[in-house]
Amino acid sequence: MQRLKKDIKSMTLAQLKEDMEGIGEKSFRASQIYEWLHVKLARSFDEMTNISGDLKERCKERYFLTALQAIEVQESAIDGTKKFLFALEDGNMVESVWMKYKHGNSVCISSQVGCRMGCLFCASTLDGLERSLLPSEMLDQIYAITRLTGEKVSNVVVMGTGEPMDNYDNVLRFLHLLTNENGLHISQRNITVSTCGIVPKMRQLAQEKLQITLALSLHATTDEKRRKLMPIANRYGLDELIEACAYYFKETGRRITFEYSLVGGVNDTPEDAAELSKLVKSLNCHVNLIPVNPIKERDFVASTHEKALAFKNKLEKSGINVTIRREMGRDIDGACGQLRRKVIHQ
Ligand code: SAH
Repeated sequence: MQRLKKDIKSMTLAQLKEDMEGIGEKSFRASQIYEWLHVKLARSFDEMTNISGDLKERCKERYFLTALQAIEVQESAIDGTKKFLFALEDGNMVESVWMKYKHGNSVCISSQVGCRMGCLFCASTLDGLERSLLPSEMLDQIYAITRLTGEKVSNVVVMGTGEPMDNYDNVLRFLHLLTNENGLHISQRNITVSTCGIVPKMRQLAQEKLQITLALSLHATTDEKRRKLMPIANRYGLDELIEACAYYFKETGRRITFEYSLVGGVNDTPEDAAELSKLVKSLNCHVNLIPVNPIKERDFVASTHEKALAFKNKLEKSGINVTIRREMGRDIDGACGQLRRKVIHQ
């Protein structure tokens, strides 16, 4: 029944205006409701005080209003990072993370319930894909966190559970709504979308010419090694992946971020660092090294701090822009998908 109603929080302002006019309402009513949804972050039609009782009732009949329920919040005692577990309307759950940095607050959102990409070190994919998230369900992770923390979000990373390029249309609508001047109006430059490397979709995204950052989860420097960590590497080889990254830069002028999880004894040797430099040198890029966050279902271990530093130095010597990602919230089921799994398998 609910699903027969329109998902109002996923509609653009133009769509909402058209829809309102279709039921004989003035288009400024759509602007008022849009502001309630995307600026004042209303969670029900009843909160909309400048909307008449009659219109509220008509809205309730016509639309469903996504409002995620926080069912667990964990706060890191180390750095204040907060991890939220949200319940969706159908009983599924997703995780989001709130991180406080000097330059502002950042939220890491999920794009799917589960994931079907099968990366071996990742907890999000262990139960496969349940379903993709609607634009409203991605937005509401940010809206709910803004309400709960009482603080403004300035940066958004689509790096939680799920593969955003496997939910392309919804992610694109989400990006439009999030950056729209009539909504939260987050700058495109403050948004990063991370992919395991679905080449045709990366190229399609390049053509949208958005100013968002594209992060590619690389994790290995040869096809053979990459296939052992990421099944998607059987579909797309490193050559075409790097070409797609160059194309993204050409179309958007945005520097690519390469994510490289350092797995002890697997991809963290000086030879790996040399190969990585060779692979990405021709590109305008940034390399983000992430000591792998061990999950109990697999026996991968993080590289030692010394190895990570040596790896970083070697890249720097070849003129590559590189950082080691600060590990936030280690003490709170940090790795993607761990909190959701803990709750659904308890
Ligand atoms: N599917 C997308 C985005 C979600 S994963 C992607 O693959 O990029 C976000 C990032 O976290 C990816 O770089 C992913 O490879 C990495 N990641 C997943 N599990 C991890 C773990 N246990 N330790 C370190 N990084 C991990």
